[in-house]
Amino acid sequence: MSLPETCKESIRRIRPYSQGKPLEEVQREFGLTDVVKLASNENPLGPSPRAVAAMMAALQECNLYPDGGNYRLKERLAGALGVGADNIAFGAGSSTVLRMISEAFLMPGDEIVYANPSFIMYEIVTHLAGATPVVVPLDAEHRHDLPAMATAITPRTKVVIICNPNNPTGTTVTKAEFDAFLAQVPPHVVVVLDEAYFEYASGPSHIDGIDYVKAGHNVLVLRTFSKIVGLAGLRVGYGIGQPAVVGALRRVREPFNISLVAQAAAMAAITDQDHVARSRAVNDLGKMILYAGAEQLGLPYIPTAANFMMIKIPGDDQAMFQALMAQGVIVRPGRTFAMPGWLRVTIGTEEQNRRFLAALETVLARMAATGEAG
Ligand code: PMP
Repeated sequence: MSLPETCKESIRRIRPYSQGKPLEEVQREFGLTDVVKLASNENPLGPSPRAVAAMMAALQECNLYPDGGNYRLKERLAGALGVGADNIAFGAGSSTVLRMISEAFLMPGDEIVYANPSFIMYEIVTHLAGATPVVVPLDAEHRHDLPAMATAITPRTKVVIICNPNNPTGTTVTKAEFDAFLAQVPPHVVVVLDEAYFEYASGPSHIDGIDYVKAGHNVLVLRTFSKIVGLAGLRVGYGIGQPAVVGALRRVREPFNISLVAQAAAMAAITDQDHVARSRAVNDLGKMILYAGAEQLGLPYIPTAANFMMIKIPGDDQAMFQALMAQGVIVRPGRTFAMPGWLRVTIGTEEQNRRFLAALETVLARMAATGEAG
């Protein structure tokens, strides 16, 4: 679609971003009744029942504006994380917090450093501000190249973003790597650690960005209620950082940016750590099933610390994506993330994972027989 002449030059640089087809559309198009969506890294267990109950109660008060300052939610979250209320700024999803970062910190001529492939929103919010992207490729193991990212910092750099675990590769940075990186970053540069998938990762070298905020570093951690907490449809995310940085973000947020229902659900969800633990357990098991399945099919994959994984497939990823969709399984073709020849699959329930593997096996067998995915 062409844009009007009056459209800003920087907005022209934004590549149209597709969130994928809605489930019902795929069902209609392929005449399927049972479609599995493993494309958006959502929680396959659904929301916490406590959050659902809180939402139902909150519906009765929807004639009122929500608390614009998110006071009770902020206090509860601060208590749970062991930080001050002045360390937290909310957005309608952490995508919106990214936008707030670009509005608060980036001007035309400023530079922002981030990796590729990584989360597409970094590119979008950079262009929204008319800032200059400095894109550092992942290394040969699909991990952030932190030494190269440190070298890419110039006097014009305002923000660096590290996605940990990284979307779409599921790879992480280690504590030793991050500490060495941070030692090279000038203090005025905001180091954004996007931890949307934090709770899925584990292990001794796994970093918790909040420790760095508590230690006084200029680190801004992004977290979300969309992933392990299972409230993607409500749009609640937040940044945790130094009070001055958080104060800048609050200035650019919309009034009443977190709905009354979303605030109620998020508050209840914080108290339901069992749901988080269950979600993590389902993901850990699912990961093993998908690793084993990929190995059985002879497909290389990238070991993941998140709730999705990249699998290398023979042939064209777009054709494979279409062929899997015809089987009722929606994944993401790697070309969406500049990784042609790969698929990103969200780890689902055991049944969903097996369904995906069966569909993949069917398509691969057909390819072997006919030379075509579709
Ligand atoms: N960061 C990363 C790395 C993501 O993958 C996503 C969602 N795909 C987000 C942030 C944004 O999530 P939300 O806006 O739902 O909080």
